[in-house]
Amino acid sequence: MGKFEYAPAPESRAVVSLRESYGLFIGGEFTPGVDGRGFKTISPATEEVLAEVTEAGPADVDRAVTAARRAYEHTWALMPGTERAKYLFRIARIVQEKARELAVLESLDNGKPIRESRDVDIPLAAAHFFYYAGWADKLEYAGYGPAPRPLGVAGQVIPWNFPLLMLAWKIAPALACGNTVVLKPAETTPLTALAFAEICRQADLPPGVVNIVTGAGETGRALVTHPGIDKVAFTGSTEVGKEIARACAPTRKKLTLELGGKAANIVFEDAPVDQAIEGIVNGIFFNQGHVCCAGSRLLVQESVYSEVLAALRRRLETLRLGDPLDKNTDVGAINSASQLAKIRELSQVGEAEGAQRWSPPCDLPVKGFWFPPTVFTGVSQAHRIAREEIFGPVLSVLTFRTPAEAVEKANNTPYGLSAGIWTDKGSLILWMASRLRAGVVWANTFNKFDPTSPFGGYKESGYGREGGRHGLEAYLDV
Ligand code: NDP
Repeated sequence: MGKFEYAPAPESRAVVSLRESYGLFIGGEFTPGVDGRGFKTISPATEEVLAEVTEAGPADVDRAVTAARRAYEHTWALMPGTERAKYLFRIARIVQEKARELAVLESLDNGKPIRESRDVDIPLAAAHFFYYAGWADKLEYAGYGPAPRPLGVAGQVIPWNFPLLMLAWKIAPALACGNTVVLKPAETTPLTALAFAEICRQADLPPGVVNIVTGAGETGRALVTHPGIDKVAFTGSTEVGKEIARACAPTRKKLTLELGGKAANIVFEDAPVDQAIEGIVNGIFFNQGHVCCAGSRLLVQESVYSEVLAALRRRLETLRLGDPLDKNTDVGAINSASQLAKIRELSQVGEAEGAQRWSPPCDLPVKGFWFPPTVFTGVSQAHRIAREEIFGPVLSVLTFRTPAEAVEKANNTPYGLSAGIWTDKGSLILWMASRLRAGVVWANTFNKFDPTSPFGGYKESGYGREGGRHGLEAYLDV
């Protein structure tokens, strides 16, 4: 699709050596599951089977929690922060050294363009380990008292949209604070977590400090409800987040939840249009829209609506959709058949409720899971596509006349994870930012991440912060 023909520029798969099957990573060793069950992980771009992965049952989760407890009590929590920091620095360096292999593996298993896994996911994952390595011996200066103590064993459940990056967000601060972890990656994207297990071995991390249990929702449930867990950290859907909150409520477990979003990306009439268009495209089409903080509701000031829409359509006609391993690809594959079904269903609902649907001309590959970049106009606040998280490359466009109306519409959502403001006026940015009920507000940019900056939500987007000094609080007994 687009005006220019590009020659294919595929990244080589040769850098990745996949095993036929993977065990669970418990106590520093790869071990088979107790009941011998497994599942296949596939490439969403081709439906090719990549590997067979072990499905951890409750007995396996119990083994992993026991290994984590032993490592916590006998090794990790006793180790001085300066020593823990050395391991974290070592892990960060190995992630950097293996960056190309990890990027290819992530794109194969997840379907995201190699340009994104290479330039965003993997460098940010390494940066998180570097950043929290720096905190490990300075915790007494973090503002949580003179001798902050770890919590114990953390049970961490992560989604499929940024597999290695979410692992880094969870594991790096937990280890820096002296906790040990049992992490469950998403069923559709376990491979980079298993590659990370190898990295832990290469870094000589003491056995049991990091344990990886693969499996589906049942494995996650067994982990978060295990009585030996002191802290639960979850990123995923609001529905599952609520279930976990209910399960943890009667216990002493500390809980942080990073859930869904329906962010408003707000364009004022004085915004530089070309810059805003790049921000809109990055806001909703980055990672196929599988982003909790995606700018999925575009609010455009009425006076520039036609200009912005025309420029957006022109820009979308130049996006290239296809092979995630091609370095020219902008839009990769949808992560799974079930996510594709959800995106299709909500898009059909959008049309049925009266919004106008548009996509640039675009050939979709025959095999795999694909959805074209899609824009809905004529959307009202009552439409489901304006209220529900689609978690795909689908943008709903609404209009407003005054800043007050923009604030009201932006806040008219059960979520509150992020928002974007595009304007030339600094005073308007500050006026808006103080009224938007969102954990992160970007001004004249979107989807910018940095390990030093806290990230998290309001309302049904969850609670607790990840990243920055604030991210330490979730893993300290404060
Ligand atoms: P889920 O919330 O089901 O998945 C997130 C993680 O939780 C996965 O590892 C999942 O395992 C695990 N899990 C599922 N059920 C339980 C449970 N009862 N107890 C503990 N862990 C559990 O998200 P989905 O993948 O089903 O996606 C559904 C929708 O959620 C998406 O369409 C999107 O709207 C939203 N979502 C939001 C994300 C965000 O970052 N805010 C991330 C992912 C999804 P498994 O993968 O094996 O099911």
